[in-house]
Amino acid sequence: MTHSGRYNLDDTIAAIATPIGSGGIGIVRLSGARALSILQRIFSIHADLAPRTLTYGHILDPDSDQIVDEVLAVYMPAPHTYTRQDIVEINCHGGPVPLSQVLDLCLGQEARLAEPGEFTLRAFLNGRIDLAQAEAVADIVEARTQAGLRVAVAQLDGELSRRIRRARSLMMDALAWVQASIDFDQDEIPPCPFEDELVAAGQLLQDLIASADRGIIYRLGIHAAIVGRPNVGKSSLLNALLRVERAIVTPIPGTTRDTLEEALNLDGIPLVLVDTAGIRNDTRNLAEDLGVARSRAALAQADLALLVIEGSAPLTTLDLEIAALIGDKPAILVINKTDLPVAAEANGLLPSAPRVDISALTGAGIADLEQAIKRIVLAGQVVSADAVLVSNPRHRDVLRRAQAHLNSALVAHRGGVPDDLVSIDLTAAVRALGEITGETVSDTLLETIFGRFCVGK
Ligand code: GDP
Repeated sequence: MTHSGRYNLDDTIAAIATPIGSGGIGIVRLSGARALSILQRIFSIHADLAPRTLTYGHILDPDSDQIVDEVLAVYMPAPHTYTRQDIVEINCHGGPVPLSQVLDLCLGQEARLAEPGEFTLRAFLNGRIDLAQAEAVADIVEARTQAGLRVAVAQLDGELSRRIRRARSLMMDALAWVQASIDFDQDEIPPCPFEDELVAAGQLLQDLIASADRGIIYRLGIHAAIVGRPNVGKSSLLNALLRVERAIVTPIPGTTRDTLEEALNLDGIPLVLVDTAGIRNDTRNLAEDLGVARSRAALAQADLALLVIEGSAPLTTLDLEIAALIGDKPAILVINKTDLPVAAEANGLLPSAPRVDISALTGAGIADLEQAIKRIVLAGQVVSADAVLVSNPRHRDVLRRAQAHLNSALVAHRGGVPDDLVSIDLTAAVRALGEITGETVSDTLLETIFGRFCVGK
């Protein structure tokens, strides 16, 4: 690990820890050995500060003795702090000017501006939390639904890390046996019983991987494209799902202008709905070409397609053309306007997709549609967010890699392959798991992970 920039733990770092803008209070946070002395140089209170106690006073510019803000300051001595270093937090009035002035004064007193996520990076580098827990901190900040939040909080609590460590330690036990059998004569050590360990470790990995797809959905959500020819009721459906009038609905074909994206919380699953309605301007033909082009673009981004057709009008070639664009993407056939007399024969359209009859106008069938979306998204399995431990694509990929190495080690061992070869795969599996908890992790990966944090976190 290098010791410049964000990996230098000796610098005292400072940042505004609250969002930029006006608010009730804003906090300037410092972490490092000089945090307290920096505060003392700009604080009106010179007496010793009682640890972990808010102290009322003023921040003063040491050059002019001018009052910059009236604050509450707290000093939290190492090691029982977020970063395991001395931390100072200055509660200022929550405006951008007082906050940036107080920050500037700190920076003028030997503090360095913190990089994104640097406080949490220090918590990780100082061993207070592991890498998976550090990533959970960002997930909590970014959680989009209560379910997503629950998954992230469990990860911060260390449940994922505990399972990973259990699997890792089983593999290390096996590795110790394998290595002993390489180094010593076969008759000096007892027969090698490590197969059970490997099978148990494999089961732990399998359980984690099994929950990952749904965990990732809870965290990142899914994109559903609402496609269909003009005037079938796509915008009305979007509104019905959102239960608010946000898209422009109009009886004249061709007036919704832009593609709309709206986020919806479907029982804890963040669902982003893309309405492709905005398509028609000049001629009908141009509109239809654009309709196809827009649908294609929206579908390319989407995990799920909602193909809307009008149940009260005969199918047109454009309906068929748009249906053909969906290909084998997961889809739901939505028959809209069922409050009107039936005219369309939708049989044969998207034969493998579930069909839901709705009326976007009256709201009939909308609840059924929501259930159908949920069934498809969760692949028919009703799993509560509480059962999910993996919600990060990076973790899932590492787990799959570890599982592949573990399986080849098992196959090799069972096939009588020499133990030194088995140990290569086992070592790779152990190393892979260390990329989740952070025992084996490159600076580049750390930069990627912490780079997505906000400054001050
Ligand atoms: P889009 O072009 O596919 O987005 O269609 P819109 O949502 O703009 O709807 C076109 C027209 O159909 C509007 O006049 C809507 O009020 C009407 N409409 C939409 N859904 C229904 C429905 O379920 N029943 C009836 N009767 N009319 C509907």
